[in-house]
Amino acid sequence: MSVLVEVQGLKVYFPVRRFLKTVGVVKAVDGVSVALEKGETLALVGESGCGKTTFGKALLGAVKPFAGKIYFDGQEINSVDDRQLEAIKRRIGAVFQDPYSSLNPMFTIYRIVEEPLVVHGIGSPKDRKETVFKALEDVKLVPAEDFAYKYPHMISGGQRQRVAIARAIISRPEFIVADEPVTMLDASIRVEILLLLREIQRKLGLTMVYITHDIATAKYFSDRIAVMYAGKFVELGPTKDVLKNPSHPYTQALIDAIPDPDPRNRLSFRKVVGGEPPSLINPPSGCRFHPRCPFFMQGKCDASEPPLYSVGPDRFTACFLAEHQS
Ligand code: SF4
Repeated sequence: MSVLVEVQGLKVYFPVRRFLKTVGVVKAVDGVSVALEKGETLALVGESGCGKTTFGKALLGAVKPFAGKIYFDGQEINSVDDRQLEAIKRRIGAVFQDPYSSLNPMFTIYRIVEEPLVVHGIGSPKDRKETVFKALEDVKLVPAEDFAYKYPHMISGGQRQRVAIARAIISRPEFIVADEPVTMLDASIRVEILLLLREIQRKLGLTMVYITHDIATAKYFSDRIAVMYAGKFVELGPTKDVLKNPSHPYTQALIDAIPDPDPRNRLSFRKVVGGEPPSLINPPSGCRFHPRCPFFMQGKCDASEPPLYSVGPDRFTACFLAEHQS
């Protein structure tokens, strides 16, 4: 297997301005490294505001890193010229959280799905028609003629997200960033859309980053999980191993907060872990999870930042509890 996407020491910072003065810096992503092999799916999991969406935007070339590098198929995306960047972007697709706002309500489904082909000058109008109809079939909007000339408001939320997926795959990308693709959908159709994404990922051999706040959904199709907290990866490893035997207290808390099928036993994440996610402007000293951690060791966890310890084959955790396992 060869690496398609490689992230090295990525930092994405945003200045906080007040009255035209910079009064602080939001460290949305703060020193993250990972390599994705071709055909691999990485689930990036964490609470809202942990930096996972910013990480996804950086992979799409939509935000500039403050430091670090992102390589796509060996090319560093922030050092190529505009023409080379356009060529890279043609090979990358995106599915966003909100199928209501990500589709232009004035365009037919046909025009929405065809748009990337037009923008990148791919195919003749006749070829494009064939490709659009095939993409609609790939996402199970069949018969395609029944959907192609409708407008987004004429179809359901799940069907809109299928349209968004068709648009993402129309130019046959090799890499997809799917940012909370099922969060806005009814619970009843979330699994359907996740399984569809998995089917398409396998059929097209796509490499994928699946961004979610819901660690339970990662099991549907990710090969590895990266758990993010306050701008950093705190755990990384094969999905099955991490879900079965989490090595970081934060991952354990995310798993403990997976809703129980019996509503009487359900606990919210805040009840499980307590406290609030930290500020990304002034994160806690040492381990950023220490104010919420039930295993906090005073003088150690608040004094220095735990490195990512190796805790098994392809498994890493940023917690001092693993210090003597590695
Ligand atoms: Fe908890 Fe300390 Fe591990 Fe951080 S380093 S997760 S505070 S035990």
